Amino acid sequence: MPTERPPAARAPRRIYITTPIYYVNAEPHLGSAYTMIICDTVARFHRQRGDDTIFVTGTDEHGDKIAQAAAAAGEHPQQYTDRVSAVFRSTWDACGFTYDRFIRTTDAEHVRTVREILARVHAAGDIYFGRYGGLYCTGCERFYTEKELVDGKCPDHRTAPEWIEEENYFFRMSAYQHRLLAELDARPDLIRPERYRNEVLALLREPLEDLCISRPKSRLTWGIELPFDERFVTYVWFDALINYVTALEELGPERFAALWPTANHFIAKDILKPHAVFWPTMLMAAGLPLYQHLNVHGYWTVDGEKMSKSLGNVVRPLDMRARYGMDAFRYVLLRESVFGLDADFREAALVTRINADLANNLGNLVSRTLSMQQRYFQGVVQPRTEVRPEDEALERAWADAEGEVETQVRALALSRALEAIWRALDHANKYIVETAPFTLAKDPAARPRVGTILHNLLEALRTSAQLASPFLPDTAARLATLLALPPAGLAAPWPAWGRAFVPGHTVASPVALFPRIEPA
Ligand SMILES: [Zn+2]
Repeated sequence: MPTERPPAARAPRRIYITTPIYYVNAEPHLGSAYTMIICDTVARFHRQRGDDTIFVTGTDEHGDKIAQAAAAAGEHPQQYTDRVSAVFRSTWDACGFTYDRFIRTTDAEHVRTVREILARVHAAGDIYFGRYGGLYCTGCERFYTEKELVDGKCPDHRTAPEWIEEENYFFRMSAYQHRLLAELDARPDLIRPERYRNEVLALLREPLEDLCISRPKSRLTWGIELPFDERFVTYVWFDALINYVTALEELGPERFAALWPTANHFIAKDILKPHAVFWPTMLMAAGLPLYQHLNVHGYWTVDGEKMSKSLGNVVRPLDMRARYGMDAFRYVLLRESVFGLDADFREAALVTRINADLANNLGNLVSRTLSMQQRYFQGVVQPRTEVRPEDEALERAWADAEGEVETQVRALALSRALEAIWRALDHANKYIVETAPFTLAKDPAARPRVGTILHNLLEALRTSAQLASPFLPDTAARLATLLALPPAGLAAPWPAWGRAFVPGHTVASPVALFPRIEPA
């Protein structure tokens, strides 16, 4: 006789999520807010499922550009970075992002970790002293080869680089080219989406050069001093990338060992090379495992134009939050972009989306369901007395949405996950039209059927709150309150359909979750 096997105990799942640390020579904008929104959504998704989740962000504070920006502001670099770093932190806090640690590269722990890793790599023979002459762009803080220049100028800054010749320390990056290629070959999803993996493979078709990792103090003092030569400070990338290690090390060696191999770095495509080439080779030299995934997203344009101060089209997260609410801003950015591709931000399109998807589709379902529940049953949830095919179809639509969300978030297809939830919301709105509880309610004999229909609709709302919670956390919490569910009720495991509301459970009167916005 076949015996039923007990469900396999679920292996503890973990994820370590990082944003880039933001360079403190600019303020938070649409691009950095987008990275934060993606990471916050993915972190909430994993926490909701009980996974051991650590989410880290912070600020990058050393280097020429910061020293120059501080000088321009008439401040000491430390004073300047304290001020700008605090702007980032307070902006992200106001946005409600649930990072576990905010790291600054001027933190004492970080300085210690960078020096430790430098000493280790130096002792292993992978750092050497040498003389180097090259074309240097101060704006980029890097040397350029003739081939990389456009008409003899930096492709980013359109300025002619200066010839600089000096003695420096070099990281033997070239020695790791084959190992890096072997890793990329063995782990096709190490860098995703695939277009960026292909870019990196193309880069690696050329011989990899060694990386200059020091700056003489005669030229720059605002940096971490090399542990083996006090005349030099550390090149800003060799310093900044190590933040990912520092932030996790604090949790102790055991959790570091468990979480480090689950590292998921999220970056915009402009910093692909440091993360896809410098960082893995640095990790190899330091004897640490590579990250699980490097997740690369595209750029946002605004009304089809590159965002810039001079064009006056910089989109600031706090302005958007004040005008539309954080959830609406989150929804639109996640819904209107495909991870990895560039996307265009238009405020008019944002208003259309808010009205159609949030005010009409979700908002109407909430207000219609809760107002009928009040009118016919004073808010008291009724038992389900029968299951008709249309009831089963509704339940199935939400089961499908749940499966889709699970798959799509793991594949970083966040817009598809939202589409799946909104398909189910559409289905629920059609279910109201199809079953017409407002007509049935006129017949006293049909009251049990009306109670059943509304119970099913409340289940749809309950499921929508659970599934939407990582994406629209405030809305989901408000919905849970309306449904009189404890906020913890949004965490998995979730009750089966029809089991969430016990007899006598009373839901609240409707409120407008998303008021319609009149287009300007
Ligand atoms: Zn440049």
